Amino acid sequence: MPPSPSTDLRQAVIDTCLTMNATGLNQGTSGNVSLRTDDGFLITPSGVPYAQMTPEQIVPMGLDGTYEGDWLPSSEWRMHLDIYAARPEAGAVVHTHSTHATALSCLREEIPPFHYMIAVAGGTTLRCADYATFGTAELSAAMLRALEGRSACLLANHGTIAFGPTLDKALWLAGEVEALCKQYVVARQIGTPTILSQAEMDAVLARFATYGKQAKDLSEGDVAAVDAPRRRAGPPKTEG
Ligand code: 13P
Ligand code: ZN
Repeated sequence: MPPSPSTDLRQAVIDTCLTMNATGLNQGTSGNVSLRTDDGFLITPSGVPYAQMTPEQIVPMGLDGTYEGDWLPSSEWRMHLDIYAARPEAGAVVHTHSTHATALSCLREEIPPFHYMIAVAGGTTLRCADYATFGTAELSAAMLRALEGRSACLLANHGTIAFGPTLDKALWLAGEVEALCKQYVVARQIGTPTILSQAEMDAVLARFATYGKQAKDLSEGDVAAVDAPRRRAGPPKTEG
């Protein structure tokens, strides 16, 4: 019998977790992953090692906070639910305890625009949500405040959370956040980083809005991310 679409979606959640740990973005049973579905979302079960996780253990939840099946959802189900409820653009959520981001979260500082890529999460800073005990509604409320206008943030003395339209994009963003945090830690170790100005970041944010789009897809008034060089004719096409 071919796998049902739901089995494929459940396996995609597990594959994201396996990649998250294999790439060093996370370790052990820390972190959790979810994927939006037509009637809610699929989320990893609580406390199950990813290498042993099976599709049947992935937990379907509704946006009303109900769950199905024999496995308890991640202790952080509220953070995932609150993102899906508040942010219609969110299709998947990845929570990690990645090392450098977590280390910085323990300083409870907002990460300033020391590098232009800070704009990857949608603003000029990467905020750090106020501390609250893991798995609580209080933590989720603090997270939502830190995510205003952003698609990722740090969670004080805990880790990071990121969302995107797909599992791949949410995982990619979690990786970008960790890379930025590592760069910031190293820069702070060797000196005092120069922080980009609001005007410098405004220019970055304008370009980011069109990053990855082709010239034909730009609208009037868009700032192109690529200063396109002069296009020349390619070599004549050979037959066969
Ligand atoms: P779960 O195993 O319950 O998902 O918990 C991991 C975690 O990171 C809690 O913050
Ligand atoms: Zn956690």
